[in-house]
Amino acid sequence: MTTTPDYSSLDPCVHCGFCLPACPTYLATGDEADSPRGRIVLMRALERGELGPEDDALVQHLDACLGCLGCEPVCPSGVGYGRGIQTAREQLFATRRLSPLAALVLAVFRREGLWRPLFTAARLLRATGVPRLLAGRSRTGFGMGMLAATEPLSPTDTVIPSEARDLLTPAAEPGSARSLASLGVTGQGSSPSLRPSASPSSPTVALFRGCVMDALFDHVHDATVRTLEANGYRVIEPAGQACCGALHEHAGDRASAEALARLNVAALTNSADYIVVNSAGCGALLKEYGHLLGTEAAAALAARVRDVSELLAQAGPRPGGPLPLDVAYDAPCHLQHAQRVQAAPLAVLGAIPSLRLRLLPSSDKCCGSAGIYSIVRPAMARAVLDLKIESFAGADPLPDIVATGNPGCLMQIGAGLRAAGLPIRVAHPVELLDESYWRGGVYGTAVRGER
Ligand code: SF4
Ligand code: SF4
Repeated sequence: MTTTPDYSSLDPCVHCGFCLPACPTYLATGDEADSPRGRIVLMRALERGELGPEDDALVQHLDACLGCLGCEPVCPSGVGYGRGIQTAREQLFATRRLSPLAALVLAVFRREGLWRPLFTAARLLRATGVPRLLAGRSRTGFGMGMLAATEPLSPTDTVIPSEARDLLTPAAEPGSARSLASLGVTGQGSSPSLRPSASPSSPTVALFRGCVMDALFDHVHDATVRTLEANGYRVIEPAGQACCGALHEHAGDRASAEALARLNVAALTNSADYIVVNSAGCGALLKEYGHLLGTEAAAALAARVRDVSELLAQAGPRPGGPLPLDVAYDAPCHLQHAQRVQAAPLAVLGAIPSLRLRLLPSSDKCCGSAGIYSIVRPAMARAVLDLKIESFAGADPLPDIVATGNPGCLMQIGAGLRAAGLPIRVAHPVELLDESYWRGGVYGTAVRGER
């Protein structure tokens, strides 16, 4: 059965243009057809059949949309741009071939038997240190920079100021008198075991592992589990999960997104009070599973999905030990616009004593990652990223770390910083809270090697 594409969410548009300055692709090209207002006109032409999928210009301008939803919160008429562009992508997907590269990437992420070995090879390459050395501006160098950006923060990282590097030195055992006294950590450090044990009444949380996060950011998963447990949650990890399907959904491949979503609904239904996600892109789609699948089970699951920052903020979070770092928070589009989660990540970073938190002028702008966008449209992705990197380069003082809660953003921004030669590292906010908890003795006498 063929259903008529539904563009009704675009009906309120009055073509005022207030959304243009919020659109990263319009800022990069200055072309009205690369703006939300221009794309709405194109989508309406597609709906009426005045332009079709064979129209190269239409496809180019719609494909160039990042799906960042930066245009939605600034629209005074409440236009649902995201629903509109999703409808257009599904309509285009049904009637044209994807590029071979896009088709290959989506095929890989459909099956764990394909993406798992690929990322295992990437981890082996990362462990050699070669990606860090080869990171640069060329396409290969940028790819190496993306892989290097998946490394956990390390005490040997030369961009970490010496004052803070001491805090990250494994030899200084968390909770030890030497490290805490010499660093001036006060409060909980000398107690033998302060990590609260979960009680039967503690809320249970099922960790969504995903694909890229599971394969390249397992250190963020570990930090997520530790920080949640330190804040009174009981964390479980249900088996049978799959990639969330966001990459497929963004590309208009709804059937693949639905198939992956069904696997996750089966794995996670009735598993816990909450489903916690530490990847903004995955979390945004998991919260939309009800709309995607149209079933009660999917809607019930979606209602229990939370970004890790939401759960931590809901519990406090408890403060840790000091980390004297300059940190610029960069808001992932799928957290701030799609999920409308803005204050919680700031509360997480705000629980770290001595951390100097800043929001730079570009902090709410897309970085150009956008799922597989940076792979299939590298030129536009880099043009969008450059606007953000310029803002970091112009900051005085330079931040030590850019904190952001999405793997694509971590990799895109991390690679851009290395390509620009800026001595700034990237980290997920829970990585920093976790480090602060180690240093503050929140994890008690646990051996750091457990990390
Ligand atoms: S989407 Fe909203 S802000 Fe943009 S032109 Fe239409 S009404 Fe104006
Ligand atoms: S979703 Fe982002 S890139 Fe697309 S039109 Fe809106 S602001 Fe521009």
